[in-house]
Amino acid sequence: MKREVGRTTRDLRRHNRTSVLTRLYLHGPASRFDLLRATGLSSATVSNVVTDLVAEGLVAEAGLLDSDGGRPRTLLEVRPGYAQVVGVDIGETHVQVGLFDWTLATLATATYPMDEGRPDPAVLAGLVTAGIEEVTARAGADPAELLGVGVGVPGTVLPDGLVHAPTLGWSGEPFDALLRPHVAAPLHLDNCARTLGQAEMWRGAGRGAQRAIVALLAVGVGAAVATGSPGGVTSTTSEWGHTVVAAGGAPCRCGSHGCLEAYVGADAILEHYESLPGAQELTAAGTERRLAELIAAAGAPGPAADTVRRTAEYLGIGIANLINLLSPDRVILSGWAGAAMGPAMLPAVRDAMRRHTLDYMAAGTVLEMGRLGPEAVALGAATLPVHELLTAGGRARTASGT
Ligand SMILES: [Zn+2]
Repeated sequence: MKREVGRTTRDLRRHNRTSVLTRLYLHGPASRFDLLRATGLSSATVSNVVTDLVAEGLVAEAGLLDSDGGRPRTLLEVRPGYAQVVGVDIGETHVQVGLFDWTLATLATATYPMDEGRPDPAVLAGLVTAGIEEVTARAGADPAELLGVGVGVPGTVLPDGLVHAPTLGWSGEPFDALLRPHVAAPLHLDNCARTLGQAEMWRGAGRGAQRAIVALLAVGVGAAVATGSPGGVTSTTSEWGHTVVAAGGAPCRCGSHGCLEAYVGADAILEHYESLPGAQELTAAGTERRLAELIAAAGAPGPAADTVRRTAEYLGIGIANLINLLSPDRVILSGWAGAAMGPAMLPAVRDAMRRHTLDYMAAGTVLEMGRLGPEAVALGAATLPVHELLTAGGRARTASGT
């Protein structure tokens, strides 16, 4: 009985700390009075929690706010120097490792091109380890002192750490077990679309949205559905790339036909272009550069422009399906291929989206480009250890799990 009471008190304290810390983390500087109103906690509780968080170095005072006639209020904010995190983007074309402070400001990044096709998980784990060493060394950080290392993979991570990633040709690879012995800090693995969704809601184009869909375009195609609430953000992934947009359509790597990915995935776009009569041969090496070459050629009428238009049409259909199903208020186009193609095709995507969405639903949805830049996926992965810290009320765990 006594133990139960102890646990309840501890849970309550953690809940109070999570409420205050999450409010400050997601919405920026606030006074004790703002925190009181936002969390619904008592004045004494807010005061105690803030005193503890300041003493532990998570939160700092950030100047004074004039209040009408009354005593100026002290503003509080999370302290960027409290901790550093690493986020890893395991793409189909590159591995990027980023070192960030825990508010997600970039401190250093390292990007390695990788063998396309079926990369060896052990080789990729070696690249990740080398990347962590490189970025921490450049910033003068100790890898063992990191709050955590988050890894975003283009696939599904099962509870036992096995990774299924069709675009990498991985079916149940023990990536977690390969990586864990070489990482001194707590390690987190998750689907990269889900973590990207979380990052766009926290720091990017999803801020303030009620329900945002973050579409990740790369070789593979995924989407995360992210929901914002005063208490935080939840983000879940979907296999959007394998929803069918054409009955009996183009063959997909998943074995089905007519999947969205078979039309708007980077490989599929390049293959379609090369099959067109009159297409110029793409001379660049690697999927990312070849797609950039195609987009550059699309400025003039011809097969490249036709390919971009066709891609926009299918992407618009795919997005319209999401809107008709889930009625988001915002759709965010992200991922390296989304960032590369977005500026050239956004008007055509919006047009297709409107034609395939019920009018009243289209009116309530805005389509925007992601705002997190080329580190978006690594930054998304870096939200994993931060999310755990917020949920735990600001008490970090160590690599051994204590
Ligand atoms: Zn498919």
